[in-house]
Amino acid sequence: MKEFNRAFRCEDDCTRYLYDLKWGNGYHCRRCGHEKSNKGRTCFHLRCKACGYDESVTANTMFHKLKIPLLKAFGMAFSLSVRKKGMSTSELARAFSVNQKSSWLFKRKTQEAMNSSGKYPLNSKVEVDEMLIGGPERNKRGRTKGNKKLVVIAVEKVKGKKVGRAYGAVINKASADSFRPFFEEHIDKDNAQVITDGWKGYLPLACDFDIRQKASNGGKSFPGMHAVIMNLKGWIRGIHHHCSKRFINGYLDEFFFRFNRRSFLDSIWHKLIERFMTKTPYSYIANAA
Ligand SMILES: [Zn+2]
Repeated sequence: MKEFNRAFRCEDDCTRYLYDLKWGNGYHCRRCGHEKSNKGRTCFHLRCKACGYDESVTANTMFHKLKIPLLKAFGMAFSLSVRKKGMSTSELARAFSVNQKSSWLFKRKTQEAMNSSGKYPLNSKVEVDEMLIGGPERNKRGRTKGNKKLVVIAVEKVKGKKVGRAYGAVINKASADSFRPFFEEHIDKDNAQVITDGWKGYLPLACDFDIRQKASNGGKSFPGMHAVIMNLKGWIRGIHHHCSKRFINGYLDEFFFRFNRRSFLDSIWHKLIERFMTKTPYSYIANAA
């Protein structure tokens, strides 16, 4: 935090950081692909020498048309990535003196940036199970979900009983059709050995994935998975008193982004800002409507 505060004291510090991220390794015109530029409208713009396209450092990034100062956005991204449990929208609003709506929007944006690229699927031993999120917890057992959302979780096992990376996503029901997109995105077909409980819904996937089943024994056969689920449930209960169902996937992205980088705290914030710079601006307002 100290180091962060020393590095970023004003808007220009932040813009310069983004400038280096965007053009530090060379300029490339988005419109015509030309690689030479002149100074643009401000010192944080570059103008293409061939076609004249004048681009700001934040154009075509998730920082485009941000309603809050970059300095606050950087601080909020820092809290959301480095703090063990992140921060709720109301905590962010208070800590950074922004209104509730700005804080809510920025958090949605951050969760979108935290969405997995799907480029690094889980491999070696991968346990898969489902859990229920949201709503009251009593009187619902097994795979009937009632008002809650059904979530599929995959956890990579590394050396011994340790847990490596993990992913989760909301699914419609515990069927092969619902599992498949999640498996395709997050599990390495060629190098993963998938272990599930005895649920038959997983069996149709066995023609594409190496699936072994074993009795769950009330979760005892899957201690790593159990720990991740408890951790996730505790987090959702703790800071998200009202976790809107529509946005549960966003919360899952946020949780697993941090979880998968828990041993790389010194680079996690930078990774997040990189995502903001390279992802296409999110149309969450349109999506939420
Ligand atoms: Zn150009």
